[in-house]
Parts: sequence; C-alpha cells; structure tokens
Amino acid sequence: MISIKTLEEIEIMAQGGQILAKIMRELKDKVSPGLTTQELDRLASELILNYGAESAFKNYRSFPAALCTSVNEQIVHGVPSDRRLLDGDILSLDLGIVYNGFNSDMAVTVPVGTVDPEIGRLIRVTKKSLKRAIARTKSGKTIGDIGHAIQGYVENQDFHVVRDLCGHGIGKQLHEKPDIPNFGQRHKGELLKLGMVLAIEPMVVIGQPKIKKGPDGFVYQTADGSISAHFEHTVAVTAKGPRVLTE
Ligand code: MG
Repeated sequence: MISIKTLEEIEIMAQGGQILAKIMRELKDKVSPGLTTQELDRLASELILNYGAESAFKNYRSFPAALCTSVNEQIVHGVPSDRRLLDGDILSLDLGIVYNGFNSDMAVTVPVGTVDPEIGRLIRVTKKSLKRAIARTKSGKTIGDIGHAIQGYVENQDFHVVRDLCGHGIGKQLHEKPDIPNFGQRHKGELLKLGMVLAIEPMVVIGQPKIKKGPDGFVYQTADGSISAHFEHTVAVTAKGPRVLTE
C-alpha cells in the first residue's frame, strides 16, 4: 500500500523540506579542497539541531552519521571520514531529516574545485534528469513514466543509470512504498495519485552501471571505478502538479 498524505501532512513535509534545503545550501557552500567529509557531517548535525529537526539517517540500519558523503566512484551511502577532499573530486551530499514526525530526503552532487569537463557534464545531466522526472510526477502518470524520463535522457547523453538502487516513497517512514527505479517504460508500473510523496533520486555513471558494496559495508560504488553523480528531491503529487518539497 502506498501511503496518501493529507494536505496538512504535505504542508508539514514542505516545512521540513525547506529546512533541509537550507541546510543543504550551507553544506554545499562549504565544500572546497582540503575539507574532510567528517567536518561536513559535523556541520550537518549542528544545523539539523539548530533548526529543531532530527537526523533521519543516523542509526538508520546502523548508519553512523547524519550525512552521506560519496566521493567520485562512490555512488551513495558513503560514510563521512577524515578523507580530505581534493581539487577535481566530485562529492554527493545526501541528507535526510525528520521534522514534526515526517521525513524529507535530498541529495546534490557538487564539484570540488575544478573538475574534468566530462565530470561537469555528468553532474549537469544527472541534475537535469531529475528535473525531467519531476515534471512527470503528476496524478495519472506512472512510476514507469518517471523511470523512463530519467533513463531516456541519461542514455541519450551517453551515460548510464544505476539499476540496483532506486528512489522511494517517503513520509512517516524514510523508505516507504513504492520503489522508484531510475529506468522504466512509459505507462507501466504503479499509477501516481494525489497525496503521494516520492523521493526521486537518479544515480548516473560514466562507465558501466554495475555496482559493488565497499569494504565498510555501507557505501555503494561502481564496480569499474568510474565516476558517479546523484541528485534527489522529495516531491508531492498535488492537484496543481508536482510540488518539490525540498527547495
Ligand atoms: Mg533517498
């Protein structure tokens, strides 16, 4: 069963989402060569507290931090550490908070210093694929329409979508039904209905989409070591169309 949120619940989720977006902007602005991912996690925890929210990720399935920091070939669920960011790295920041009992979830990928032009293109394509997916997050469309929008655009740009990880419904729980694959066919899959709230999160790679789990048991990375990017928004299906709650 996919949970349907009331208008009041969507307003609460929008408040949480706005807080999350503000925190993300502050984190993003801090990213620079020499910084450690642990320092970003510490700042994320402080900001979450300051805004009167709670971390959705810390201790979720034993995850040890508030923020996921995935560098270069790491796709998602990177654990913050004393690793220093280097000029030319790319970093996915993925953060979830709980506000008034509801979760919101968001990710951005940022260049550290100056990146290779092809990596810059990967970031732009991944971001745009999310935008295209959001445009289809409307009552009457399907989960397959969302995946199709992402996959079609990404493959047209000669990149690949990760198939073994996906987006998800979100609400009182961080991960709710349905799964939202980053590939799919038009008109296929679950029908989108008013009041559904979805965390849509394209994960895009330059090389082969095969993934493997890293040695810490949390991080997923590309099997071939190629670079990956990731963007995510929490989006509500409303009578006025898609409403991005995390901006
Ligand atoms: Mg998510």
